[in-house]
Amino acid sequence: MATGSRARRAALIILVGIAIVGGAAAFALNSPTALAWFYNQQAHRRFAQQRGLANMFDGKALRVVLCGTSSPVPDAARAKACTVVIAGDHAFVVDTGPESWKTLALANFPADRIAGVMLTHFHSDHIGDLGEFRLQTWVGGRKQPLPVYGGAGVEKIVDGVNLTYALDDGYRAAHHGHDVAPIEAAPLIAKPFKVGSSDTHDQAETILEDGDLKVTAFEVNHTPVRPAVGYRFDYKGRSVVVSGDTIKWPNVARWSHNADVLVHEAQNQNMREIIAAAARDENMKSVGKIFEDIETYHSSPRDAAEIANQAGVRLLVFTHFTPPLVSGLLDSLFFEGVSDIRPASGWVAGFDGMRIDLPIGSDKIEQSALATGIFR
Ligand SMILES: [Zn+2]
Ligand SMILES: [Zn+2]
Repeated sequence: MATGSRARRAALIILVGIAIVGGAAAFALNSPTALAWFYNQQAHRRFAQQRGLANMFDGKALRVVLCGTSSPVPDAARAKACTVVIAGDHAFVVDTGPESWKTLALANFPADRIAGVMLTHFHSDHIGDLGEFRLQTWVGGRKQPLPVYGGAGVEKIVDGVNLTYALDDGYRAAHHGHDVAPIEAAPLIAKPFKVGSSDTHDQAETILEDGDLKVTAFEVNHTPVRPAVGYRFDYKGRSVVVSGDTIKWPNVARWSHNADVLVHEAQNQNMREIIAAAARDENMKSVGKIFEDIETYHSSPRDAAEIANQAGVRLLVFTHFTPPLVSGLLDSLFFEGVSDIRPASGWVAGFDGMRIDLPIGSDKIEQSALATGIFR
């Protein structure tokens, strides 16, 4: 009995202790002073994290960051089309889909490293955040206009965004001063190229040569959308290709020849048809029609896997998921048959914040994820 009594007393003391410590913690967590201390720690952590990303620009690898992996159909966990390619001390952004800046901002990506934007085509899910990239790179340290590469018509996009943001340019310049917001550096500047609109969809053009970096725009087939291109980046013997939106198309395989990484769009036709049929059943006529129409201008995951095989691509990274790949539980449905075409090590489902490093002088392909760290 005495032993039992001592045990009960010890348990009571422990419970009281937990209550006191818990109460103190709860008090501290509700204390503005304690919260301000925690907040200060997080603020320093955020900027330290951004400095830590500087080693991505050391020229020792060709690198890729996925900043948007969704199609136009909304997905809470994914921004729309956006891929960053880092070569040397510069980053280039292929497509600026809605909310894609947010993906980079959450990872504290250094805005002043972005040296250019390359648009694959002018669908809204590829250009919707162009104004945000314009603003954030400018107030983030850009000291000259931001080049925007694209096929015929890119001048219109650039003129429109520049006009839309002109009033805000004035506010920022007046508020923050010339050192932070030099007004002459604010605009986008169009860099149009010729390829992208041929009837044969098989042309290509070198659009940028800068030291060890060469960028090629090649035609894809996203009919009726023209121009429509993909991009190949070659840097110190490593290579990355971004397909843009396209059906299964030989010119993608041609320009992905022996590429280390192919970032390719994917649309599951079975799942798309399920949504189209459900929309018809529910009398949602416009949605049903759109989900029928899009059948003819995208690639299935198996199509992309076959293109990657034809090209001898080492890692196929799926992006631009239609319908949304909202859960890993859907993987076996969405990617049905892909592993019959390529080994499991030869493909991966992309996600927002995914980072791929291709170290120079090796054949390594390193996959990781950027940490998100803004006041979290
Ligand atoms: Zn498109
Ligand atoms: Zn698209």
